[in-house]
Amino acid sequence: MAFSLSDHPHRRYNPLTGEWVLVSPHRTKRPWQGQVETPPAETRPEYDPNCYLCPNNARANGERNPNYSGTYVFTNDFPALLPDTPEGIYAPHPLLRAESERGTARVICFSPRHDLTLAEMQPSAIRLVVDEWCRQYEELAALPNISYVLIFENRGAMMGASNPHPHGQVWASEHLPQQILLEDASQRAYWQTHGRSLLADYLEVELQLGERLIHLNAHFAVLVPFWAVWPFETLLISRRHVSAMTDLSHAERDALAEALHALTVRYDNLFRTSFPYSAGFHVRPTQAGDWTHWHFHAHFYPPLLRSATVRKFLVGYEMLGTPQRDITPEQAAERLRSLPSVHYKSAL
Ligand SMILES: [Zn+2]
Ligand SMILES: [Zn+2]
Repeated sequence: MAFSLSDHPHRRYNPLTGEWVLVSPHRTKRPWQGQVETPPAETRPEYDPNCYLCPNNARANGERNPNYSGTYVFTNDFPALLPDTPEGIYAPHPLLRAESERGTARVICFSPRHDLTLAEMQPSAIRLVVDEWCRQYEELAALPNISYVLIFENRGAMMGASNPHPHGQVWASEHLPQQILLEDASQRAYWQTHGRSLLADYLEVELQLGERLIHLNAHFAVLVPFWAVWPFETLLISRRHVSAMTDLSHAERDALAEALHALTVRYDNLFRTSFPYSAGFHVRPTQAGDWTHWHFHAHFYPPLLRSATVRKFLVGYEMLGTPQRDITPEQAAERLRSLPSVHYKSAL
């Protein structure tokens, strides 16, 4: 019997982080006893007087939002990082080590409309968000003591988003975040060995094989990575090797907005629900250095497995051993690819 990725348990290597994932495709044949239900369609008003992100409303600290019409950005009222933290090191023993961390955190409202999501916004509106992300990256990179600017979105109560109003966050930190350290080391080593970007070479292979590809436009590709951990995890990669969103041309920014729209619509259509996820952009650090090896990309980590209510948990063997999945990345890509490109709500 020959080893087959679609039949036999195996592990797959993630060249970006050096980590492994266990794939158990034979388990998708076992009977499913968990509950499957479609929740009632959520309807939200365009404006919610109790939402602290809607235009003109007051926030927890008493400040009032302006009557904004596009994007709106403010410093998080409860930021995880503060710019004026005193510098210091705590190291009473080699096994006990702490360092002060300076930075800041902002909230980016994508739209004044309380009832929208990226998936329900038009690419032209998402393009305005792309421009705002670029502005924030440049602004925060110019602040003192900032090494990294991480733009991300937590969507849905399942991912811990405290408010359904369409918004994301940007955290700027003094040190490189953990995932960035891992991916930086891998991309740098690959660049030094091959003189090429790791993700450029990976994308070339994926475009040849085609089996994990979900969406392709002139400047971006969206695919389920070969090493995906979450059932419907995706990776968005720029087709040109650039290392930050701010390097993108106007046409590329348009294409990024189009790709984000195409992906999030398919996500919503998968279980006919507003699909939860954590997603974020991985770009070059802002501190001085040679970051040529960085290749601009975004990760989408959605928790849903079987329906709008049945989610995957990283527990047991996954917490103590290796992350594990049943449905293969190829099967996940096939499902996402075959979905309509029109949002189910607008198709009603
Ligand atoms: Zn709102
Ligand atoms: Zn990454």
